[in-house]
Amino acid sequence: MVNCHIRQRRRTRKATWRLHVVLGLLPALCGALDACRSSGARLSTARLGGSDDSTGAAVMLDRIRRVTESLTSPAMAGRGLGTAEGNAAAAHLARTFHSLGLQTAPGTADFLQRVPLWRIAYDTQRTIVHTRARALPARATSDEVSGPGPTDGDASGKLMYVGFGVVDSVSGHNDLEATDVRGKIVIVSTARRSIGAEERALSWSAAIGNAVTLSRIRNRGAAALILVDDAPALHTNSSALDLSFHNDIVADTLPAPLSMPVVHISTGVAEALFEHDTFGYAGALGAASRGDRVTHELSDSAHVMVRRTVTPVKASNVIAVLRGSDHLLSRNAVVFMAHYDGLGRDRDGKVRAGAADNALGIGMLVALAERVAAMRVRPRRTMLFLATTGEERGMLGAKFWVDNPSLPISQVSAVVNFDGIGTEIFGPIRRIVGFGAELSTLGEALAAIEQERGLISEPDPFGSRRPFLRSDHIILARRGVPALMLLGLPEGPVAESMQRALMWVERAYHAPADTIGNDWDWRGPRDLASVAFAVGIRIANAAEEPAWLSTSPFQRQRRP
Ligand SMILES: [Zn+2]
Repeated sequence: MVNCHIRQRRRTRKATWRLHVVLGLLPALCGALDACRSSGARLSTARLGGSDDSTGAAVMLDRIRRVTESLTSPAMAGRGLGTAEGNAAAAHLARTFHSLGLQTAPGTADFLQRVPLWRIAYDTQRTIVHTRARALPARATSDEVSGPGPTDGDASGKLMYVGFGVVDSVSGHNDLEATDVRGKIVIVSTARRSIGAEERALSWSAAIGNAVTLSRIRNRGAAALILVDDAPALHTNSSALDLSFHNDIVADTLPAPLSMPVVHISTGVAEALFEHDTFGYAGALGAASRGDRVTHELSDSAHVMVRRTVTPVKASNVIAVLRGSDHLLSRNAVVFMAHYDGLGRDRDGKVRAGAADNALGIGMLVALAERVAAMRVRPRRTMLFLATTGEERGMLGAKFWVDNPSLPISQVSAVVNFDGIGTEIFGPIRRIVGFGAELSTLGEALAAIEQERGLISEPDPFGSRRPFLRSDHIILARRGVPALMLLGLPEGPVAESMQRALMWVERAYHAPADTIGNDWDWRGPRDLASVAFAVGIRIANAAEEPAWLSTSPFQRQRRP
């Protein structure tokens, strides 16, 4: 804090000197001042001609709390995609952005960018696998049947089991070698985790997966594909599990509908299909899991039937802009994003309010926007605030935005995303996890702010869970935009915070228990938003464009 104070004095003097010489630099220096001010240094209001830091921080805290409370109110019913409540949340955010004096983005009149989506409803009574003897229940998912085109699918043929359907050039394992699947109804196991040895699982990881399997089987002329859901669930909490069965909304930009019906069945139904087979399903799966090639035709035939209806869904991203002050650099924008959608009601009608995930993220986004809008001297680059829809259903809003961006993607300097698991509310922030910080020069900007504020830079505590790959910003990163996602942790051992966070994931993530708790400490999200603000201003005022490091897998030519 003291350091910051001294540096500011120097900068102020410098700025006065330069004022007469290089007017163009002033915004950058003032921006730096503003950022530094937010770090907690107390400055004379006379010197800066504005409110002091504690006022700014109090405004942020108040804004974060109010936005989070509004979005989690009963009237918002969990902000489900395509629901009236989800659209009410969008309208609420649009009004808020308007009240802050922000501008609309090109192509949007009212801060809303319509995102065309489709809801696919499967007729569960008539999505079935028929055998000679009976009608067995199946389910279909929109991601595999795809697209809002023709709705129904029918196929008859002999049943054929191909294990995991692996074709792996590395290990040489090929479940489809010398096998004619044309006109067959192909059954594939999906229990990837049970694939014996670790090396094999790794080697096969690129060779399996529903999408790969699907196109492989279809290209070989199969009549239908049956995927057996024998993979263990990712989450033990039932609401999270519930999600995977309700992926019923799709973008209208998916490839043409497939000509081949695809359904999922339970292991129980699989056993019934293997009724007259010598192995039985369990036996065949066991052999496949040991790495044996178990491809063979079953003695039975079947008929696969898929019935669905497709209806348009109304949804919007909410976008606000603050034009940069530099006539050249303002062509480029720093994007701050967070998703406002939640999961709405669960199967029992219980509201999943999505407080930590991600009403709180939107609270921080809006507080940051308010702070930027209130700056006396605007940042040099443009600031764009993007509240996305449909993140929970496959980052649909973010995907639509990169295909229909508010400015060319090549002019997006950086993206900072808020999509947390609520660790911020544990208390005032002492440690920062910058997901993606090690991949681009954004890491340097973050490190500078951490140092200024005496914060500890914490490595990603999730490791293999790879949170960096699992939220909206990744959609921009894949188009070449340097990206950062921030997580704040309080004073005290990291292990303790992580323990608390993991307990929250188990109990509340994507579940009705994700509500604002009495124990929430709003100073934490205030601190994190303030750090993001300072980082954002630093990026927005820097002479150099942020860039991926050469070691980053995202280092590539930006596509417009
Ligand atoms: Zn989220």
